[in-house]
This record gives sequence, structure tokens and C-alpha cells, in this order.
Amino acid sequence: MSRIGGAGELFGTNGVRGIANEELTAEMALNLGRTIATLKPGTIAVASDTRISSQMLKSAVISGITSVGSDAIDLGFAPTPALQYYVKMKDSVNAGVIVTASHNPREYNGIKFVSSDGTEFTREMDEESERVYKSKNFRSVKWNEVGMVFYDDCIRVYLDGIKKCVNVEKIGKSDFTVAVDCGNGASCYTTPQLLKELECKVISLNAHPDGRFPQREPEPVEENVTLLKELVKLSSADLGVAHDGDADRATFIDENGKFISEDVMLALMAKRYVEKHGGGIVVTPVSSSRRVEDVVKKAGGEVIYTAVGSPVVAQVMKEKKAIFGGEGNGGLIFPEFQLARDGAMSVAKVLELIAEEERPISKLVKEIPEYHMIKKKISCKNKLKLLEGLKKEFPDANFTDGARVEFEGGWILVRPSGTEPIARIFAEAKSKKRAEQLLQIGVETAERILSGE
Ligand code: MG
Repeated sequence: MSRIGGAGELFGTNGVRGIANEELTAEMALNLGRTIATLKPGTIAVASDTRISSQMLKSAVISGITSVGSDAIDLGFAPTPALQYYVKMKDSVNAGVIVTASHNPREYNGIKFVSSDGTEFTREMDEESERVYKSKNFRSVKWNEVGMVFYDDCIRVYLDGIKKCVNVEKIGKSDFTVAVDCGNGASCYTTPQLLKELECKVISLNAHPDGRFPQREPEPVEENVTLLKELVKLSSADLGVAHDGDADRATFIDENGKFISEDVMLALMAKRYVEKHGGGIVVTPVSSSRRVEDVVKKAGGEVIYTAVGSPVVAQVMKEKKAIFGGEGNGGLIFPEFQLARDGAMSVAKVLELIAEEERPISKLVKEIPEYHMIKKKISCKNKLKLLEGLKKEFPDANFTDGARVEFEGGWILVRPSGTEPIARIFAEAKSKKRAEQLLQIGVETAERILSGE
């Protein structure tokens, strides 16, 4: 099984993922639809990304939902955050299902459940779902109690909601030119339209829905957005933006055509939120760059580290009443809108930042401290032994998810994988040389613990 994010379990860190029609079949989608409707009786909204297999899987999910007596609302193609916002805003909707494999390659697909407040199911809720799915103990209803299918649009309410959270007037007056690479994914339905409504001149790339993803891989990392970088330069755009397949993530290109590291953008937005609020809590996973903590502390705020994964970041943001949060992969969470990673909102917020600061994005980025992060994987067959050894070795480390150990001018994270027999080691420092030294310390310590010496 090459299923992503599962160690023999159905639900991984991002719901159910697998190669469509092999590892994630219509039969599974049918029973996943029955599962969520058994757990969350009431009306359930369903949407999908633009993948070739998405409509097949979505139809099966809807059949599952209606077969156990719940009504379904088919929202068609939509970004994950648009479905989440719709579920949050509609009191009559009790849960949501998004059919997407996010940034994974084209042959994959996935199914993820959303709670009535629009947040992704937590680990515990996924475990409960898995129990219901495996037991096949679904609600059963008679022929005349089968649910109905309704159709609605979530894009309009989503775009209007975004516009209420940003300084539309200031952005409109700034005469921005923005180049956007939708990667043929779900953002085709949102970001170009949003930019138009924010009175930007829009230059779009891969902005027609196409589940074959003919131009680039769905993950908006630097190596996949070379064309967008060129386009920003050629069109003298103020900003370039690229999304992943379900548009909960956004990465950015500055006005010179230079890719802005996702960690830098996370820190830049965290800094802005803490400065605007005069303090406050920012939530991010333990794998995030020290840049975030540096700028947040300097502005009078506090960083809370969580385990890796957006559902836990959102959960902790809710508990701690955080003002901002996100991951170092382009997944930014703006809690005044919703507790979800949000690609289109990220675009609007970055434009608002440039408009209000009246400086180009490359200048704003320069205020973020420089760090070098390097990563390495090592073989790890005994996760427990590694963690116990690390506790002895570094008793003061943060053990939220693996061990994050702070050093002068840098840190290391040793994190055993939940799904593969490996451990990931991260090291970050002000200089590349120091980062390499720290990585060496991390690798040697982990290998020594695992070899039992
Ligand atoms: Mg995604």
C-alpha cells in the first residue's frame, strides 16, 4: 500500500487519502458517506476539487449520506476553505465532506470530514469515524426515509465573507497587478474572481479546471511555479500567488519574480497580527521556523507550539483564543474569518498588507530575520526507544511532537514519523554552517539512542 498518511489505518493526518479507484474506491466513498451521516445526522454539505476522480467519489459520498436518511447539499467544485466557511455559516448544515487530495499528485484523491463549526475533524473524531466505518454499524432507514440532494453555491458567500475581513477600499486604490497560478485546481473558481472584485489587474495562469493537472504538480512549492515567477517579471506584477489543488494553501512571488519562502510569509503575517493587536497568541507547529517566534516576541506576543497538522493548530487556536496561526507550508489561518487554512484569504491579507504599508512586498520581507533550515530522514524502527532516549538526553526540550531542542541561535527537532519507519530531523540556525552543526548533533544523538549504546 502506498496510501499517503496511514499505517494500516484508514484515516491519516488528512482524512482518507489514496490512489483513486485502487486504494480509494467508490465503495469506500459510499461507506464514508454513511459514516459521517451516522455520526452527524442532519444536512451535510459536500464539495470537491477538480481531480478526474472527484465527481465519481463525491457522487458515492452523497449516495452514502442519503442512503442512511440524511440530506446532502452538493456544492460542486470548490476550495476546501469555501466548503468549510459554508458549513460554518449555514445553521441548517451539520457537517461537511470535501473530496480532495490537496497537494498530492494527480492520481490521488482523498475524503475529509468537517464539523458543524467548519473545522476539520480532529484526530479523536477521525478515530471515531474509523470505528463506525469498520463496524458498518450505519443508521438504516426505510425506502421513504431516504435523504434528498439539494444544490447550492458556496463561492459567492465565501468571497463576500473574505471581502468583509480586509480593507477593500485601500486595496482597490492601490492599482495592483497580480499574477495568479491556479494550477488547474479549485482556486480557478475563487482567486481570479476575488482579485477582480478587489479591483486588481489579474493575470492568470492554469486558471481553467483540469483534473489532469497538465501544467504543474498541485503542490505550490518553488520548483513547481517557475512559469509564474517568469510571468510576474514579464507583466511587472506587484505580486504572484500560487495555490495547491484545494486552495487552502497559497505561496507568493515578490515583484522581482523571487519566491518568498513559506516560513517567511508565515512570520510576516504573524508579525503584522501581533503588531496590530498589540500582543496576542500565535499558534504554529513545532516544525516551524524560529523566524515566527523572533518576530512575535519582539512585537510583544507569544508563540504556542503544537504537533504537526492543521486540525491540531486550529483546535489549539480555538482553545487559546489565538489571533493568528498557521503552518510553514503556505497554510495560514485567520481566526476572525474561520479556523481553517485559507488560500484566497491569504491573498487578500497579503494585498492588504502591501496596500496599508505602501511598500513593495520584497521590502516587507526583508524585515524578517534570516535563518537556514535543513532536514534529514533517518531510519527509525523503534519510535518509543528514540523518544525515551531523547527525554533523557534533552529533559528541557519541547515534547509536543518529537523533541524540539532550543540552542543558542537555533534549534533541532527530532520527530519520528507516525506512518513510516523513519525519523525526520530538522535543524535551523542563523548561519548555514551552524544549521549543519546542529543537524549533525540531532542525527548523531538519534542514531546513538537507536543503536542502543
Ligand atoms: Mg491543500
